[in-house]
Amino acid sequence: MLEGKLALVTGSTSGIGLGIARALARQRANLVLNGFGEPAEIERLRGELAASFGVEVSYEGADLSKPAEIEAMFARIAARGAAVDILVNNAGIQHVAPVERFPTERWDAVIAINLSAAFHATRCALPAMQQRNWGRIVNIASTHGLVASVEKSAYVAAKHGIVGLTKVVALENARTGITCNAICPGWVLTPLVQKQIDARAAQSGQTVEQAKIALVSEKQPSHEFVTPEQLGELTVFLCSPAAGQVRGAAWAMDGGWTAQ
Ligand code: NAD
Repeated sequence: MLEGKLALVTGSTSGIGLGIARALARQRANLVLNGFGEPAEIERLRGELAASFGVEVSYEGADLSKPAEIEAMFARIAARGAAVDILVNNAGIQHVAPVERFPTERWDAVIAINLSAAFHATRCALPAMQQRNWGRIVNIASTHGLVASVEKSAYVAAKHGIVGLTKVVALENARTGITCNAICPGWVLTPLVQKQIDARAAQSGQTVEQAKIALVSEKQPSHEFVTPEQLGELTVFLCSPAAGQVRGAAWAMDGGWTAQ
């Protein structure tokens, strides 16, 4: 379905981004991977995705907290005669602390990676999309783009921000073939969440398994995690012709969290 399209998925060396990259490659999109990791492991992943799905897979190691590195990444893609058709702004980090003890450098980092990077990547991607009158921008927000939880001020602010950015980009391109939407996942069992489970187990004296069940059950009526594969398939749908009039949506996939 996406044969010949080029998809840049930020933060695709792990977790949700990797699940989305895999789902797009299954639809024959060529990929640009991005994110941190061991060079040998990233190379193994690149080769595995290319071989499994018969698509071209390249890797860009841009640190998304640095706007100049985002611009350089897009310049390198353009220099090889390519352009991003599908941009998935997924890279993100978390820090948990009450506001009065929230380290200011952690605030800056969360806002830079979870919010400003999406703005910079979007402004770099849009001109070529506008030239071709086709594009898909999918922002991985969070349930925390719609509701809040304690001790996540920077994350909740960034995720509410990205939902707002999504609407503006959708409206500015509403009469074109470019759509911009946000996905708002509930809990997904990735390294980002595993850290929170480990901290919860250490604080409460529960086992890691008990802490995991407690974490997901507290917020999600389904008592089940959302999976990267499910988020990958929702992204594929948002890239499909059927989603051509889905514009500026903040689409929850959260086991019922925000239905309460
Ligand atoms: P993860 O830690 O598994 O993956 C994060 C990815 O971002 C990694 O590839 C990492 O290398 C990359 N990354 C981090 N900082 C970067 C930087 N400065 N430059 C480039 N890449 C960077 O996390 P995840 O759970 O897969 O999270 C992915 C996205 O989904 C995040 O935006 C997160 O907020 C969002 N999200 C996660 C959950 C969840 O429960 N896991 C829920 C809702 C939303």
